[in-house]
Amino acid sequence: MLGMKTARAAVQTADETLRYRDLAVPDELAPDEALLRIEGSGMCGSDVKQYMGELNDTGYVTYPVVPGHEPVGVLERVGDRAKERWGVSEGDRVAVEPAVPCGICDYCLGGRYQLCENRFTYGYTPTTEEHGLWGGYAEFMMLRPNSILHPVPENLSVEDAVLFNPLGAGFEWAYYRAGTEVGDTVLILGPGQRGLASVIACNEAGAGRIIVTGLERDERNLELAEAFGADATINVERTDTVERVKALTDGGLADQVIDTTPSATQPVVDAIDAVKPGGTVALAGFKGNEVVPDFNSDQIVLKDLDVHGSLGVYSRSYEQAIRVIESGEYPLEKMHTHTLPIDDLKYAIRLLRGEADEPAIHVTAVPD
Ligand SMILES: [Zn+2]
Ligand SMILES: [Zn+2]
Repeated sequence: MLGMKTARAAVQTADETLRYRDLAVPDELAPDEALLRIEGSGMCGSDVKQYMGELNDTGYVTYPVVPGHEPVGVLERVGDRAKERWGVSEGDRVAVEPAVPCGICDYCLGGRYQLCENRFTYGYTPTTEEHGLWGGYAEFMMLRPNSILHPVPENLSVEDAVLFNPLGAGFEWAYYRAGTEVGDTVLILGPGQRGLASVIACNEAGAGRIIVTGLERDERNLELAEAFGADATINVERTDTVERVKALTDGGLADQVIDTTPSATQPVVDAIDAVKPGGTVALAGFKGNEVVPDFNSDQIVLKDLDVHGSLGVYSRSYEQAIRVIESGEYPLEKMHTHTLPIDDLKYAIRLLRGEADEPAIHVTAVPD
């Protein structure tokens, strides 16, 4: 159509299949909507699962869809009511939470909006739902009325800014779920983006001792964990995690254990064994529906443990994350290893799967 504005977008049309399309940008916005000009989107393990079709299997995603659920951008146009409700203006730079809660179901009213029964999620909603621009791997994204936005300081690089998402998870898991307090000994299982984010959150909470586990191939991540405040690291391929934690704590074990590992089930058993009686375990790593062998629930009873699952990240944690990014206190630039145009998403997925010739920790996808 003549003069119609379009946005170039990566569209997933089937498992492991991406197409690039120019999707229409609506001329008119509803009073409580906005249009976001995307600067970049962070990529995480969920992007890999989505690309491979693992989320489609569960019915969570239907094709075609614009993926990308960790966007930062600038408000290009904002409806009048949206300006008032969000306290924003055109030109403001914002980070967008992935979930858009309904705000009125029992879970929303109870403050647990990640469990909202009517939630909408950016990056997972098909383009067939009007206006189609519901993902971060595009030039523009539409913002729905109940979107939750966080102001992002102008002086941050886009690579730093998109870390609001993994760092937010760190605060949610390490601080709000595991309840890390001043002086605590915390064991963090897994040194990926969110494990590293948990190190930062524990450090901010004043943990006395932070221990992080990883595999042989995670050497670089474990070094980064130390730069972020970890006191000790464990290579689980060479050392028994629980024995090492015992040695490091003179038998006292950990006050909190946070499992951030994807797929592996042994960390769940290690978490229960490495936490002290009366301690807290936060489970945040998806195991792809694998059951955990050697899991003995009696240990939870006998040790009087608090075991928490953690689904999604709440606003309080994203706010903490942006504060930490703004503080400049951590060498976060060491975390973002790659910035790639959305045209190279397939390579970005290979990087995150560890299939490329170069190691990756955090990848930012930017419009071309
Ligand atoms: Zn993500
Ligand atoms: Zn709701």
